[in-house]
Amino acid sequence: MTTVAVVGYIIAFALFIVGLMGLTGPRTAVRGNWTAAVGMLVAIVATLLLPGMGNWWLIALGLVLGTVVGVPAARRVRMTAMPQMVALFNGVGGGAVALIAWAEFRDTAGYVAEPLHVAVASLFAALVGSVSFWGSLVAFGKLQELIATRPVTLGAVHRPLTAVALAAALAYVVVIAAGGTSGWLIVGVLLAAAFFGVLLVLPIGGADMPVVISLLNAATGLSAAAMGLALDNTALIVAGMLVGASGSILTNLMAKAMNRTLVSVLLGGFGGAAVAEADGPGTGGMVRTTGAADVAIQLAYANRVAVVPGYGMAVAQAQHAVREMADLLTGSGVEVYYAVHPVAGRMPGHMNVLLAEADVGYEALKDLEESNSLLPRTDVAVVIGANDVTNPAARTDASSPIYGMPVLSVDASRSVIVLKRSMGSGFAGVDNALFTDPRTSMLFGDAKESVASVVEELKAL
Ligand code: NDP
Repeated sequence: MTTVAVVGYIIAFALFIVGLMGLTGPRTAVRGNWTAAVGMLVAIVATLLLPGMGNWWLIALGLVLGTVVGVPAARRVRMTAMPQMVALFNGVGGGAVALIAWAEFRDTAGYVAEPLHVAVASLFAALVGSVSFWGSLVAFGKLQELIATRPVTLGAVHRPLTAVALAAALAYVVVIAAGGTSGWLIVGVLLAAAFFGVLLVLPIGGADMPVVISLLNAATGLSAAAMGLALDNTALIVAGMLVGASGSILTNLMAKAMNRTLVSVLLGGFGGAAVAEADGPGTGGMVRTTGAADVAIQLAYANRVAVVPGYGMAVAQAQHAVREMADLLTGSGVEVYYAVHPVAGRMPGHMNVLLAEADVGYEALKDLEESNSLLPRTDVAVVIGANDVTNPAARTDASSPIYGMPVLSVDASRSVIVLKRSMGSGFAGVDNALFTDPRTSMLFGDAKESVASVVEELKAL
């Protein structure tokens, strides 16, 4: 490696790490993202300076294509579609790794003349990269609602088929490691891993999606690191390990937040077949509706108010209006806090990002545990487009598909106001008895419009 490339890589690694540190808080996240992106640019330039780089036209074509597709897509994406975009980009990373492993197989005639560790690392990269690509495509389909968001299975044959796909992929891997050189063998690894990836993610749905998304993220990172080992490329090893390690930590945190083990997530759990039938419009109880004027009065006379944001706040882009409402209340002496569930929205930290964008003070955000200790001492909980993360069935109904998922105990507060457009269910597709609780009033409508009306009423008081 040339000295310039080595220096370039060291600068890039430093920027990756500083960038990651920036991602630990909403205030520094944008800067962190930029820092890491500059690091990646430095790493690309350093790689292009490596001796033996050739085929400049092809490299230029790749860079142009990536830029033409990536930049407008990232600029245009709506905040609510961000999770599926992240899933897609993550999958593309895994797919790229799998293709490199395939190209290396062809270049080295089946890794025969390569040391064993190169063959093993390349095969790991091919297998995990392909699983990650196809699994991420299914996750994208579910988040984009092209595929049912609930768990989908092929019935009784699903698990045996999944096991057969994994066994077939591993068998191809073993044959190649033992000296097999036929090009069909690596195609076999990629295809069997593809089937495994699809079959693995299809039955995961509802409340388990956040865990599987971070797991796929970690898988892409680990496959890239393995490919770096095989190619003896330090940049790929370091970048891959950073993604792999942070993805694994996130997977662990998300699983803990959902009170689930990784094994139970992968074996399919929250939201079994029952979910499909539960996708109905109501819970059968009596629904009390309210208007903006009544909500404003109720809030103005409260001592403590909890704002419970969810995916609907992101859809409606209501965060600025919500902050205005909270500011008005705080200004007249009401204590306002935001009860933020770790999987509210459609990506980890979704609510934190939105609220930070609206300049909500970080100290006003309370995590699940703290919120649950405050909610019984809260006068009004205003649920803004949240559903699954407030569903009491997760605590009380052992037959519910989301039973066991930790939720915000909104029903413990003195009164609840729910802002949403209908009695429709959330991502997990289950009915929510909170909406028919005697202490709950429903303010139907788009969250942004509803909050704006409440703000007007508060100003008029
Ligand atoms: P939910 O998906 O449970 O519910 C969102 C609610 O928002 C819907 O019931 C919908 O009701 C309402 N809504 C939609 N648009 C609007 C609007 N314009 N105005 C007002 N309300 C609106 O959201 P939660 O945040 O409570 O829960 C997140 C769910 O997503 C969990 O099941 C979680 O597991 C899952 N998930 C989370 C991920 C993460 O990383 N955070 C990733 C993938 C999935 P209506 O149509 O009646 O308005």
